[in-house]
Amino acid sequence: MKMTRARITIVEDEPAIAEVLQYNLEREGFAVRVLTEGDTALPALRRDPPDLLLLDLMLPGLDGLELTRLLKRDPATADVPLIMLTAKDEETDRIVGLELGADDYITKPFSPREVILRIKAVLRRGRAAATSRSLLETGEIRIDVEGHRTWVAGEEQALTATEFRLLTVLAERRDRVQRRADLLRDVWGYRDDVDSRTVDTHVRRLRRKLGGAGDRIETVVGVGYRLRGERP
Ligand code: CA
Repeated sequence: MKMTRARITIVEDEPAIAEVLQYNLEREGFAVRVLTEGDTALPALRRDPPDLLLLDLMLPGLDGLELTRLLKRDPATADVPLIMLTAKDEETDRIVGLELGADDYITKPFSPREVILRIKAVLRRGRAAATSRSLLETGEIRIDVEGHRTWVAGEEQALTATEFRLLTVLAERRDRVQRRADLLRDVWGYRDDVDSRTVDTHVRRLRRKLGGAGDRIETVVGVGYRLRGERP
């Protein structure tokens, strides 16, 4: 299968930097679009989300962090991999950016070689995540993550939204113990003050619904739960 060219959008207000990036990325085979302002970048990115975004943090008008916040909030652009371009003294902004969901950052001045390596690494990670996200299989359990459907030994099982999220998280981390607190955070989005017995109740129900495959969810006494995967 021939790979289509990855489309990269650069948001950078300094023409010299944008030009060097565009030249080198195009030479590497990427399709490149350059935008120079945060305000106009937002609607352009929403209309036509790229495969990856290189975003300068210091922009006139809407700055890079504010743009990141808005992009991550919008379903149309939330999944677009994002690499920040930052100055050396923008450490706080870098941390905020990563917390907002940026994938990586590059500090100016940078070499085009370095930028290309980072871009390829982020695109590779994104592809791996997309594959593992869409279909999970563990023994007789099959999960279509995007379609929200579950099969056990070929038979579809009706799970509630919470049961489905719980199963997905356990399957993604199969063979690794998940503490109740981790599950509360990642499945329920709860804080520490919520009763961890909520997890036990849902695991019990989920096991029942999974029938014979239910015993794949093992109790790790005093810790939490682990979904036993298929040993190779
Ligand atoms: Ca700038």
